[in-house]
Amino acid sequence: MGDVFTKLGESIKSTFKEATTQTQKSVDQTVYRTELLSKKNELKKAYQQLGEAQYEVHVHNAEEEIPVSLYTKIEVITKEIAQIEKQVGEIVTTQKDSFDTFKRTVKTTWDENMAKQTRPEKGEDGVEIMKICSHCNVGNNISASYCISCGNKF
Ligand SMILES: [Zn+2]
Repeated sequence: MGDVFTKLGESIKSTFKEATTQTQKSVDQTVYRTELLSKKNELKKAYQQLGEAQYEVHVHNAEEEIPVSLYTKIEVITKEIAQIEKQVGEIVTTQKDSFDTFKRTVKTTWDENMAKQTRPEKGEDGVEIMKICSHCNVGNNISASYCISCGNKF
């Protein structure tokens, strides 16, 4: 019997995992934002409930204890929020990275010398020293006079 339930659990888990992966590929960021907002509202409500329960216990010396489920609920929602925030962050990073790479590739094939000249330099610590464009936020060579992305004059 135990085996059947384990296998059933595993198949549900893998189905869920697959669905999540597919969703991550196609889902719009607004879905995560909406989910995040509703989770934050849920958390706010849970804290409110906890506050009310504590008030009853401490101020009115109520007999009943604060239900443990309330703490568990807060913990679960907090973890869910952290997970969604992480996913939102990953999407933003992926999109920004691929877009920047695309722009650099275009520029390199377009004018090799100019691209070399305007590419960000690495400092002694290995971190790129860049002049960030105030117009489009793309990192440029520190000595660049124009933005490689939008042509903004520095
Ligand atoms: Zn720019």
